[in-house]
Amino acid sequence: MLSKIKNYISDNTGILIRIDDIAENMNWDLMEKSELLFEKYGIKPVLGVIPENKDDTLLSYPKKNDFWEKVRIWKNKGWEIAMHGYTHVYDKKTKRDDYFNHGGDSEFCGHSLETQELRIKKGLKKFDSEKIKIRAFFAPNHTYDQNTFVALKNNGINEIIDGYGLMPYSENNIKFIPQLFYKVFALPFGIQSTQIHLNYWEQKDFDNFEKFIIKNSNKIITYDEALKKVNNNFFHNSIKNLSAKILKLKRIIKS
Ligand SMILES: [Zn+2]
Repeated sequence: MLSKIKNYISDNTGILIRIDDIAENMNWDLMEKSELLFEKYGIKPVLGVIPENKDDTLLSYPKKNDFWEKVRIWKNKGWEIAMHGYTHVYDKKTKRDDYFNHGGDSEFCGHSLETQELRIKKGLKKFDSEKIKIRAFFAPNHTYDQNTFVALKNNGINEIIDGYGLMPYSENNIKFIPQLFYKVFALPFGIQSTQIHLNYWEQKDFDNFEKFIIKNSNKIITYDEALKKVNNNFFHNSIKNLSAKILKLKRIIKS
């Protein structure tokens, strides 16, 4: 019995490393250091690539001219390339009526299906022209509505790296790999994606990340391994609903 429980826990515990805001303009110094770290420990992260970055904050970082060649090299190493928005420019405010009640600004939520679909199509076209196949998406600032899901599915994307819960699940015919925490840490149970913003990091943040990787390298999983854990059983569903309630409540109290 005890060994069964132990096996269940270890089978359902893992960390997916997701790095956000990968674009031509970014903190290349820390990206190169991260790449060496991933190589050393055999880690295959998910990179959220912005297909046509027009975000002023991000544009202030150094530009890499052979960016797309770099993305192909990452992809060939077995890293997962996901689409992270289209331009990463927020032009709508959610009134906390976005799907996850996250609130704040959005590039997608609140726009018509037509507008959202056009952005997704243009983004995918960019990846296509660079010969990079995309299967997963996550929106800037975690903000989605039903139109976002329809627009994604109409364009063959039904995997999103975002959402509540401790385990990957499916909802609206979309697979969600949850991303709950801002800080990088290892839970004793559950499969979670990180969200890492290298652009806002200093050397000391990278040093902490390196320590985290060394300590937890055996728990770090690939995107395919996370996908295999999509599970809507009663236990996992209850945890998901509970975590959604707690987080939504926390955000309401904060605002
Ligand atoms: Zn972002």
